[in-house]
Amino acid sequence: MKSIQKLNPIVVKGILGVGGHFDRSHMPLESRYSVILPSDSHITNLVIDLYYEREGHSGTLHVLSAIREKFWIIKGHATVRRRLSKCFTCRRWNSKVGEQVMAPLPKVRVTPSGMLLWKLPVIILDQYW
Ligand SMILES: [Zn+2]
Repeated sequence: MKSIQKLNPIVVKGILGVGGHFDRSHMPLESRYSVILPSDSHITNLVIDLYYEREGHSGTLHVLSAIREKFWIIKGHATVRRRLSKCFTCRRWNSKVGEQVMAPLPKVRVTPSGMLLWKLPVIILDQYW
């Protein structure tokens, strides 16, 4: 509630907007008074998703500045950042490449067999003769 008071709210056509700076300007009403949105609302999430898609999965500040042309989200930076961190597409493209860990070799491959030991002198002699 206290954060809304700082925005000098004004009701225009039944919608709560940010008042103050542009009261006397000749801009259209929707540009003059940004619509105030709560931080934890489904509508807010839909607005963030819409602008996020429209801006091509840009960063938090870019999306937030695009949103602020028409809307003012309470705790906007944290809300947008939290929402964007859940984007599956970005998480997938920014993820680290997995590394393969080699499994230990089976016991048969690392222990010498009796057959090989019996043939070892023959193999060595073949190389020198
Ligand atoms: Zn994304």
